[in-house]
Parts: sequence; C-alpha cells; structure tokens
Amino acid sequence: MNKKGFDTIEKNKFAQRLTSWFDQQQRPLPWREDRDPYKIWVSEIMLQQTRVDTVIPYFRRFITRFPTIESLANADQEEVLKHWEGLGYYSRARNLHAGVREVHAKYGSRVPDQADEISAIKGIGPYTAGAILSIAFGKPEPAVDGNVMRVLSRVLLVEDDIAKQKTRKYFEQVVKAIIPEDDPSAFNQGLMELGATVCTPKSPKCLLCPVRQHCQAFQENRQAELPVKSKSKAPKVETIAVAAVQNENGEWLIRRRPETGLLGGMWEFPAFKVDTALNKKAQLAQKMCEMYELKVELHDRLRNIQHVFSHLKWEMSVYRGTVEGTVQQEGHLFCGSSMLEKYPFPVSHQKIIRMITER
Ligand code: SF4
Repeated sequence: MNKKGFDTIEKNKFAQRLTSWFDQQQRPLPWREDRDPYKIWVSEIMLQQTRVDTVIPYFRRFITRFPTIESLANADQEEVLKHWEGLGYYSRARNLHAGVREVHAKYGSRVPDQADEISAIKGIGPYTAGAILSIAFGKPEPAVDGNVMRVLSRVLLVEDDIAKQKTRKYFEQVVKAIIPEDDPSAFNQGLMELGATVCTPKSPKCLLCPVRQHCQAFQENRQAELPVKSKSKAPKVETIAVAAVQNENGEWLIRRRPETGLLGGMWEFPAFKVDTALNKKAQLAQKMCEMYELKVELHDRLRNIQHVFSHLKWEMSVYRGTVEGTVQQEGHLFCGSSMLEKYPFPVSHQKIIRMITER
C-alpha cells in the first residue's frame, strides 16, 4: 500500500490546475446555473447511482414543479414519487422529501450552512453534505463519491478497496488536507467532473488530463489497475407472479406498497413470491383468493419481465384475468385504465401498464 500524499507546493499546483481546468471545461448542467443549496441538494440526490444524461430531464421537471423548499415540503408524497417515477431508488425521493420538510419546519426553509446541522438532516450523508456546503456555501468540506475516489486512487496510487467505508474516510481526510480555502466549490466539482469525463473507469484520457503531472498511476502506467474495488454479491433472485386483473367494470386492481422498504409508497399490481418448482398461475390464484375475498379467474401468462435492483433480481410472470367482488384492504383500489397514470408505478409495473393499455 502506498499512501504518499502531496507536499505543500505540489498540493497548491494540483488544486490550481484542477480548478482552472474546471472553470474552462465544465459541462453546462441545469443545477450549475446558480448556487441555490436546495437545487444542489436535489441534483446530488438524483445523481446518486444515476447517469447525468438520465437525471437532466427529471431534474428540470422536478424543479419546475417544486421550485422551492416550501413547494416540496407542502407536496403530497405521492406527487413527489410520481415526479421520481422511472428514476429508481425511490427511498431517495422519500428521504429528500422528509429532509426538506425538516428544513422547512426547523430552519424556516433555509438550508443550514453548518456541517453538524446539515449532516443531521434525513437523507443527507457525508457526500451530499460536503457537496452542498462546498458548492452552495463555499466551505472547504470534502465531497467524496465514486468518481472522486477513482481519481484520487490513481493520482496517489492508493490500492485500498474503495468499497470499504474506511477508504472513503481516508479520502475525505486527503481532500480536507488539499482543498483550497479560496475555491472549494471548483475543487470538489473539478474532481467529480474529472472522474466523470476524463479519468473514466475504462480508458482514462490521460493525455487530456490537467493533473497528469501529479498522477502516480500515469507515471507508472497502472491506471487500469486502479481503483481497487471488491465485487458486490450477485443479486438474489426472486420469482414473482403478478395479477393484472379487472373487475366487471373493466377497472384494474392496484395497491400501494408499504411506506418503507423496497419501492416504498409506489403503486403496483398485486404480486406475490412463488415457488419456481410449482405451477405459478395456480399459486397466484391461490394467493389472490387467500388475501382478497374475490372470485379470481386467471388467463394464460401475458409476459415475463425481468427487473434488476442492486441487490435483487425479480423474475416476473404477469397473468391477466378477471375478478368479482370488492377489496377491503387498505391501500388497494380499482382504477380505470385512463386513471393509472395518476399513480407512481415502478418501471417493471409501468411495463405492465403499457402491455395492458396498448392491447
Ligand atoms: Fe486519471 Fe490519467 Fe489523469 Fe491520472 S493522468 S488522474 S489516471 S486521467
């Protein structure tokens, strides 16, 4: 393990080269149009696990509908989830909403600029806190994400596993030691931008890199070996049978998932885990009858859908059918085809909506 840092002269040159490059080369992104801490907060939450190109239209729509802390704090969770629909990792939206409500109630809708206060807000982890403090408030706080760890692993030839928490903490210390007081925003954003556009995971564009004079991996031609990252476990596979069923009025049975946990608060067609070794349609019919006091008739399978989460894979078999009777359970309702779009559905169930409404 090599953890050589920078000396003072080198660290100043590194920062100066990085910030000048960022000032000239940064991509024009909608959240860079001003330094509103709320917009930076929204963008940083959306950007977690999601590509910039995907985020841009979501960000624009979200900010158009919820332009201020007050507007988001006063919104229904369902509408917030509807504006997040398709972006995935919906706990981000729920936590952002809860955090914004906290700022509205506790700080009069002003995002706090103190590290201890901002870090205590729901949904704001060390990275988001550092990004808001440095970009919106000009404070020299680290904002270390995967891009930043890749750049620094290569520049400093650090061979520690970046999937480990203590490696992230180490890089936070490194950034604290080198971040310039006069422009922490351009420094943090420069590291992120460099990781996103030049120091990419595969084939980094070292000849275009503003800090290659400082990069030990470049000097030793070891860029491809870094960063070191242990592989995450293969996702667990669950076999799911889904009932797309209509009542005698042609309305679809849908339900709201529990508030917390996977896809919390999103809507779906009734879905159940089933045993792959047994007949899925028969199991689904039995589970529907056990759960609801309905007379259920299922037709042949409509389609298979696969949906992969970070830790889980759903192998879904969708059955269309009819039901007779009413449903008493909370969070369930019958809904006409034209009204389905009012509710937030995860991507896998949006596919089902497209299948049943296009037929
Ligand atoms: Fe990354 Fe290459 Fe720049 Fe080093 S020289 S920081 S490996 S792009």
